[in-house]
Amino acid sequence: MREDDIEDSLNIEDRRGDSGGFGGGFGGGGLPVRTGGGLGTIIVIILVLIFGGGKGLISSLLSAGGGSYSNQGYQSQSSVDTQGLNDANNQSDTDTKTAHHIAKVLRSTELYWGKYFQDNGGRYNEPTLVLFRNETQSACGTASQASGPFYCPSDGKVYLDTGFFDEMRRSLGASGDFAEAYVVAHEIGHHVQDEFGILKKAHSAMARSGEDKGADSLAVRIELQADCFAGTWAKAAVADTGRLEQGDIEEAMQAANSVGDDRLQKRAQGYAVPDSFTHGTSAQRMKWFNIGMNSGDPEKCDTFNATNL
Ligand SMILES: [Zn+2]
Repeated sequence: MREDDIEDSLNIEDRRGDSGGFGGGFGGGGLPVRTGGGLGTIIVIILVLIFGGGKGLISSLLSAGGGSYSNQGYQSQSSVDTQGLNDANNQSDTDTKTAHHIAKVLRSTELYWGKYFQDNGGRYNEPTLVLFRNETQSACGTASQASGPFYCPSDGKVYLDTGFFDEMRRSLGASGDFAEAYVVAHEIGHHVQDEFGILKKAHSAMARSGEDKGADSLAVRIELQADCFAGTWAKAAVADTGRLEQGDIEEAMQAANSVGDDRLQKRAQGYAVPDSFTHGTSAQRMKWFNIGMNSGDPEKCDTFNATNL
């Protein structure tokens, strides 16, 4: 990726210098996810009601206002509590490099999604990305080393433990740059779903049905759509470099996925967009990332109406 001409995003809340957490407890506001129950006809009907219709998924959501969470939940705090990176929080050169890489990728997603929303008559609320080390609080509960990256719809923030990237880089070596970018773009994909109102609708449907996992579940469809959105961003981000090989993408996704699964399965509390057993298979993730990457069109990312994931 060519990043020389991209500045750091300022929507970074750099908590790496914090001692870590405030003694546990939940911030509250997280959406509960019930377990149990099965995938029935009812969910299919709900899906058609929610996501069906002749108009494109995204454009109909945009024209309907989208952004349900924005209306009733968090408000963009980009001018309040975010100030970009604080290099004094860095513990090593590697950490400095990683943090600036993340900030540039975040900026790149802001430019891409900002333009997309604007072109379609909407407005993109830039999310905050919280960089932390060890432990910090989110509105979805405690983010810890075991959390792995996640998006919290209740406060509209992405949470990233820089230790996650250390681990991923060790397992990836030179391919690490794109793997990091992919992780950021995937989590931003969840924020974009939030902006479209997709997350709220899907979670309401999941709460009604009690269904939140399984091969055809809404949870998997949420994850695969975030991969597809990451793909549409990637097409724009690398359009003029030609440096990204198909193998890089696959390697990055698989590594990010496996590292994430190991860590995320330890996550025991709090609600976040579920990122553990609910991803879909590696083949499905590749497929949807490529649908986004090849088309560059978020409208093609309609995993909710896809009969064949
Ligand atoms: Zn995810």
